[in-house]
Amino acid sequence: MAFEGLTERLQKAMRNLRGKGKVSESDLRKTMREIRLALLEADVNFSVVRKFVKTVQERAKGADVLEGLNPAQQIVKIVDEELTKTMGEEATPLNKSEKIPTVIMMAGLQGAGKTTTAGKLSLKLKNEKDARPLLIAADIYRPAAIDQLEQVGKEIDVPVFQKGTDVDPIEIVKQGMQVAKENHNDYVLIDTAGRLQIDEKLMDELKNIKELTHPDEILLVVDAMTGQNAVNTAEGFNDALDITGVVLTKLDGDTRGGAALSIREVTQKPIKFIGQGEKMDALDVFHPDRMASRILGMGDILSLIEKTQKDYDEKEAQKLTEKMQNNTFGFEDFLDQLNQIQKMGPLEDIMKMIPGMANNPALKNINMDPKDLEHIKAIIYSMTKEEKDNPDLLNPSRRRRIARGCGRPIQEVNRMIKQFNQMKTMMNKMSKGNMSGMENMLGN
Ligand code: GDP
Repeated sequence: MAFEGLTERLQKAMRNLRGKGKVSESDLRKTMREIRLALLEADVNFSVVRKFVKTVQERAKGADVLEGLNPAQQIVKIVDEELTKTMGEEATPLNKSEKIPTVIMMAGLQGAGKTTTAGKLSLKLKNEKDARPLLIAADIYRPAAIDQLEQVGKEIDVPVFQKGTDVDPIEIVKQGMQVAKENHNDYVLIDTAGRLQIDEKLMDELKNIKELTHPDEILLVVDAMTGQNAVNTAEGFNDALDITGVVLTKLDGDTRGGAALSIREVTQKPIKFIGQGEKMDALDVFHPDRMASRILGMGDILSLIEKTQKDYDEKEAQKLTEKMQNNTFGFEDFLDQLNQIQKMGPLEDIMKMIPGMANNPALKNINMDPKDLEHIKAIIYSMTKEEKDNPDLLNPSRRRRIARGCGRPIQEVNRMIKQFNQMKTMMNKMSKGNMSGMENMLGN
């Protein structure tokens, strides 16, 4: 899981301050040393780490004047704010041209996810802006790249302009732009060639495409898993092309976090999107504040809310919160939630966004196989209404009957009920506590 090590180490660094009425110089020094090591170990650029630690330290020294929060909480807040700042403060929207088409040039090393991202972004523009994009296949050096883009185009129903591998990329782009003009496409996305590493010939070609098309957006696609290399790549491309933004891919993998935390500071260019999966809908707007919360293990509650909003009614949410608070959350509600969650996407991704869940040991015990979800549902369907409303009724003989009813082993029924109870307790605590997750995190 992304950022896991960094999250754990940052939490540990700040746990030292827990319960302290006042933070001494030496406590603060110790915490800052650990934060520094945590960041370096996560492959964050050295000068970014130095600047970050210096700023947090300076702010933390004056922190005891703040009211309302205890010193440890204040430092968590400072770290959270400075992480956000390091990553760019606010989400940066995609540039748009006054006249059509808006030209987006995709650049990046081979394997970074350029072609995939070109498709994902086209789909996003189509879905969210009702756009009519055209994809141009200008990577003629990797023959499979054109086929891949064609396939992506078919999948998302976006036209792809291509001329095979024998025509010069500049000529392809020129013709592609003409086609876009004739067809009134409002966005053109150019999938350019990648290399294993930056070389002059590649950069010249990209510069020529830039000169020809005057792109509104030059998006550099970098693989978050490559850490410092991603940062060096970004610096190289930016020097040559003056990029307008970065797309950080593979944040669904177990990246340590270095790239996300360094790129903005090193290139002074915003991360605009993050790729979080291989599927076409796995591209999200990058929100520095949410990413900071995620890194701190506070859970990406805002993303969760946004994701949920589409198929979620506010009244329902209120009812649910009340049930969590009153501890009257039953299996019927659980079933509703499971159905909601299943609609939203892979369960692991959703669970990790809940505050306090990112590193919650309880999460590790919950099995996330979609098949298991069906089994859980089968178990619940075998309960009587009374049992669903009042899980305390589930004594051994009722459990045996349920197991027989749904054809699942009794151990599985027991395990599911135990997990349900654990979850219920946790939800009850969370619903009463501070939802920002800060309280949870510090355990006070
Ligand atoms: P290109 O050479 O830069 O065009 O890279 P591709 O678009 O071909 O991507 C290389 C590989 O990375 C493919 O297998 C993609 O499915 C995969 N990929 C791209 N973006 C993501 C992402 O956000 N998450 C994951 N897990 N895989 C990705």
